Amino acid sequence: MKLSAIPTTVRTTCPYCGVGCGVNAQVGQDGAIAIAGDVAHPASQGRLCVKGSALGETLGNHGRLLAPMVREDGKPRGTLREASWDEALDKVAQGFARVIAEHGPEAVALYVSGQLLTEDYYVANKFMKGYVGSANIDTNSRLCMSSAVAGHKRAFGEDVVPGNYEDFELADLIVLVGSNAAWCHPTLYQRIARAKQERPELKVVVIDPRRTATCDIADLHLPVKPGTDVWLFDGLFGHLAGHAADEGFVDAHTTGLADALDAAAKAGSPADVARTCRVDPRDLERFYDLFANTEKVVTAFTMGVNQSTSGADKVNAIINCHLITGRIGRPGMGPFSLTGQPNAMGGREVGGLANMLAAHMDLDDAAQRAALQDFWGSPRVADKPGLKAVDLFRAIEEGKVKAVWIMATNPLVSLPDADQARRALEKCELVVASDIVLGTDTNEAAHVLLPALGWGEKDGTVTNSERCISRQRAFLSAPGSARADWDIICDVARRMGYAGFEFTSAHEIFDEHARLSGWKNGTDGQRRRVFDIKGLAGMTRADYDALDPVQWPVRTPGEATARLFGDGHFAHGDGRARFVPTVPRAPAYLPGGDYPLVLNTGRVRDQWHTMTRTGRSQKLAEHVPEPFIDMHPQDALLCGVKAGELARVTSDWGAVVARVQHGGGIARGSVFMPIHWSGQTASDARVGTVVNPAVDPVSGEPEFKHTPVRIEPFGVTWYGFILSRTELPLREAANWTRIQGKDFIRYELAGRKPFADAAAWTRRLLDVHDEDADWIEVEDKNGGMVRAAHLVDGRIESCLFVAQRADLPARAWLASMFDKDKLEPADRISLLAGRAKEKGFDAGPTVCSCFGVGRKTIEIAIRQNNLCDAAAVTACTKAGGNCGSCIPEIRSLLAEAQVAEA
Ligand code: SF4
Repeated sequence: MKLSAIPTTVRTTCPYCGVGCGVNAQVGQDGAIAIAGDVAHPASQGRLCVKGSALGETLGNHGRLLAPMVREDGKPRGTLREASWDEALDKVAQGFARVIAEHGPEAVALYVSGQLLTEDYYVANKFMKGYVGSANIDTNSRLCMSSAVAGHKRAFGEDVVPGNYEDFELADLIVLVGSNAAWCHPTLYQRIARAKQERPELKVVVIDPRRTATCDIADLHLPVKPGTDVWLFDGLFGHLAGHAADEGFVDAHTTGLADALDAAAKAGSPADVARTCRVDPRDLERFYDLFANTEKVVTAFTMGVNQSTSGADKVNAIINCHLITGRIGRPGMGPFSLTGQPNAMGGREVGGLANMLAAHMDLDDAAQRAALQDFWGSPRVADKPGLKAVDLFRAIEEGKVKAVWIMATNPLVSLPDADQARRALEKCELVVASDIVLGTDTNEAAHVLLPALGWGEKDGTVTNSERCISRQRAFLSAPGSARADWDIICDVARRMGYAGFEFTSAHEIFDEHARLSGWKNGTDGQRRRVFDIKGLAGMTRADYDALDPVQWPVRTPGEATARLFGDGHFAHGDGRARFVPTVPRAPAYLPGGDYPLVLNTGRVRDQWHTMTRTGRSQKLAEHVPEPFIDMHPQDALLCGVKAGELARVTSDWGAVVARVQHGGGIARGSVFMPIHWSGQTASDARVGTVVNPAVDPVSGEPEFKHTPVRIEPFGVTWYGFILSRTELPLREAANWTRIQGKDFIRYELAGRKPFADAAAWTRRLLDVHDEDADWIEVEDKNGGMVRAAHLVDGRIESCLFVAQRADLPARAWLASMFDKDKLEPADRISLLAGRAKEKGFDAGPTVCSCFGVGRKTIEIAIRQNNLCDAAAVTACTKAGGNCGSCIPEIRSLLAEAQVAEA
């Protein structure tokens, strides 16, 4: 379907990570969409990573949910049929109203997402907490940064990130903890890399169990044992107390130092800490001295810290080190929570978590609850915390929550113990899902599907990691009958008889949100809240449309706030920050017995969440096409698995299958798997099914980084792959992965049943039933090899390669056959030979997705031209010359070449 477009350049914001880069989107006359970085956006200054650059490829109506749908028989996996908006919304409103009437407000819930815009989030929260009267609204941000929220609230009195991105350039020491910024916050990482290039005295320390791409710029890498960060920072805290304490700051602006130091002492001496964390004691001493002796320190942390059963304590252990040195809120220094999602921060501003109220008001403060109810004029306001994500899905399975509305997220893939989440939804009386795509694991369990607007179609605001509010603007018209999330929620609310949902635009909602932030803020005996954007209230529609990125607080029009707490005044009632005692404790489940290894999970460079958008881009698929298990070669040997072959990863909660690889800088005893693959893109790689459901007792954030597992071979008798212009049923495969190609779909396969009659078997696999089809095939019976291709009018339609071993022919040159209108005789021969006609055609796995440059191409260029730095590789091959996301990998190849030559 052709996209209808508003033909201008529109300034908007990237919908992926928390860096929040500015994007210029332009729709051409032919509907083609050009994406470029917005040089005027302060977060990114014109830069985009490979995911942002490929945004244009992820648009289009293919696979979209374009109309409301309901299940005929009301059961998950029953027949879906299209419905009118009236029918679908009545079903939702009446279903929710019935459950509330019969079982009370705690029997319904919303589960929302950091993909929502602030305006969507605002009305969702108002609907639940102000009108339904329950705080059962939680968000997938619970899974990525609720530990940071808890840490901020405990230390500062409010969920506030004190600094901004410029601090990374002004710092003399940057400590990156549990953060593979090179892959997960790429443009910020490149900003650090550039600062370090200009100022080599800027030191970078990476604290991470894995040697990730981020270590490319590290002066020191501390490969800590997973789960031991509190020991490390408690040890640092004790060291700073003796060597770098700012007593004036501590006395004037903090409380609780003695108790916190007592707790930290339990981590032991630096030698004990080094032993517990399994790091070289000399490296630990170096880090402690570097931190103690450097005034301008930024400690940035993300999922490696937050996703832990002691995540909140890890955050506070880091903040304690900044408080004791008084290094906070001034240029070039401070603790810095890097958020995972584009609007995790905006969701926090409007109370999108089950234990928060809107506008940073406190749920456990009766006066603030009353103030909120007064502002909304609502019949009630929730007076106790709701269910956090993991508890919510348990309550659904137990039948306590009987209706749930899921918006813009895919919990059957992303939650820990994801099979439990599936069981929960299969039991739930009413599951509503608002989404932009039809085919997701979660949507398969929904009774009502509501088509929402996606990026490029919706309009509103997001807030990035540095408190910068930016506009996401529409440049495409709504596909099908899709509607904005806020509009859908308001419609349901009105059908339930709730007043206060008469909004007609995102602008009106933003205005109410801004006014609420100033409501009884520091007046009427109320605490003065740092989150205050009343200076943005009262904007005209035109002002809102033209709103430039601005960092909150914005108390008066035109104000913006680069940093907070530099004056030593914090958000607790007494204005003082709190040192929080953080006694180190082990993760919930430890390796041993049947599960000797520790599974860590995370992102890969070119994919986002459950791939419902990035999975549509051929360019992004090429970097890491398949799910993998990265493990140390010696562990692989002990487990009897080999690189390139499939292995099963099993925990107490479930099992997945993926291809073994080495080289991710992983230590003995640990394995790593990516989070992105779902039941739509792979047969058995939904890693959430394996992850343990233990949560942090303070924040409720799950422990995605530490699940005991075992690894064993996944026995198959053959490996294969298919390239096909159409989707195939894959009946014969024991394991498969679906990968988006340019003009085809690629399936990586493996199977158990030997193929007796190759001719019939290959035709079944390629779904070719016409005896007269143009069919070419070769079989080596003794060698267990089969190759076949189906052509229509001389053009390749599909092809299949199967062998007993995993090392099959390169896919890249085969893919080029799909560009041809007609195969020449030589092409047919080369197809069956499994070899390109031209030598050197196989470029190897993609390194640079922007220009499609493969590993082999770069290796050859380095060797033949004696290239010795990344800039020379870029000049020679173009790799790294656009977004720069692949530069760490290019540097690794340069290092490997140097080692090989030596
Ligand atoms: Fe988007 Fe990449 Fe920028 Fe993150 S770093 S906001 S994914 S362009």
